[in-house]
Amino acid sequence: MSQLSCRTSPKTSFTKALTLFCTLPLATMIFHAQAADYKVIHAGELLTDASEKPLQQYSLVIIDEKITEVKKGYLTLSEQQVLSTDTVEYIDLKDSFVMAGLMDMHVHLQGELGPKNDSESLRMSDADVAMKSAYFANKTLMAGFTTVRDLGAKPEQIYALRDAIAKGWLSGPRIIASGGVSVTGGHGDVDGKSPDLLDMLTSKTICDGPYDCRRATRRAIKYGADVIKITSTGGVLSDTNTGTGQQMANDELKEVIDAAHALGRKVASHAHAAEGINAALRAGVDSIEHGSYANKESIKLFKQSGAYLVPTLLAGDTVVQMAKSKGNFMSDAIKAKAIRVGNDMQNNFGNAYKQGVNIAFGTDSGVSRHGDNAKEAVLMHQAGMSNQDILISATINGADLIGMSDSLGTLETGKQADVIAMKMSPLRQIDALLDVQFVMKSGAVHKR
Ligand SMILES: [Zn+2]
Repeated sequence: MSQLSCRTSPKTSFTKALTLFCTLPLATMIFHAQAADYKVIHAGELLTDASEKPLQQYSLVIIDEKITEVKKGYLTLSEQQVLSTDTVEYIDLKDSFVMAGLMDMHVHLQGELGPKNDSESLRMSDADVAMKSAYFANKTLMAGFTTVRDLGAKPEQIYALRDAIAKGWLSGPRIIASGGVSVTGGHGDVDGKSPDLLDMLTSKTICDGPYDCRRATRRAIKYGADVIKITSTGGVLSDTNTGTGQQMANDELKEVIDAAHALGRKVASHAHAAEGINAALRAGVDSIEHGSYANKESIKLFKQSGAYLVPTLLAGDTVVQMAKSKGNFMSDAIKAKAIRVGNDMQNNFGNAYKQGVNIAFGTDSGVSRHGDNAKEAVLMHQAGMSNQDILISATINGADLIGMSDSLGTLETGKQADVIAMKMSPLRQIDALLDVQFVMKSGAVHKR
């Protein structure tokens, strides 16, 4: 790495700052007119990149929100390296396994499935829902998930939550927020209510036919969507007895995906049945959510396009438990679908993994409880995925799926300091992820 050569005098505070940076590699230089906030993490075991082996006894130097150095040994900064106005904090994680923040590509931060779900949602004001989502967002961050993709919420509320967290008003993960586009009567439209309520609650991004779906996609992006969520097949939890087969027509899928890509947005498609998975993949979708009944053709299409499968095994597991439990709140239509689909998800996932499909970690939390996100890793492991590949899916692959590999996914100079730590190595025992004890997001410590 090249060093900066310096010839400066006399010593103003500016040149003093420059002198400091002369001692650091050029790539680590960040000019700060004001005092900088240094943090030095001493990591017993450090996994900088989940596709490589962990390093022993390393230091991470962080200035403000970014990593500026990854160095062997337990580094201490000399007085010449920092300004008197800078703050330096040493974080002792010598007895811990340290890695990049986890990323969950499928959550619903606005709610949590349960018996009170429906009655509560009708009683709560938008402000109530906003408070509740802030609570769930914090729980998610505390579990070590520093970035999430929210794939289904009331759009203006999730955009507000995303922006409030980004501004530092609230503690929570970085949110990539979706705008949903769905067809009339499909999964993604409102259901199970009186006609008056259905009319009132129908979103303006429900569409029919390619041109209308093009309008709906552009509208979602106009109002703040980072990613477009579509539902190419029916869903388990829509109370309509409409099955889990293909619901969006091929021309609608193509139009939504083309319109989104033209405006620089990716598209995630909820899909269970093979024909819906395959139609979305042929239309150029970026990720398939659930993918419960992927067939031979799906595997071929996944590999041709490089699209990701986001398995959400935890949702499958949760709905099966709920459907079988006594006094459950599900209607008969939902119960039958839950047991059928939930049981099949894990086998289908194991097969897709063995065939070499790209996998990005995602839970559908909101179906399961927020903060339990890492349980997905245990289910992925049970389905035959290696611990290392699970960590790759929850870091490097997540970053790639949201198009943020240049700033997230690994611990490297110049990237965001999203760092977590646990006592045990998840490479040796995957359930170590269930007990994350230290969380830093963009250089700020949220849990220790
Ligand atoms: Zn979902």
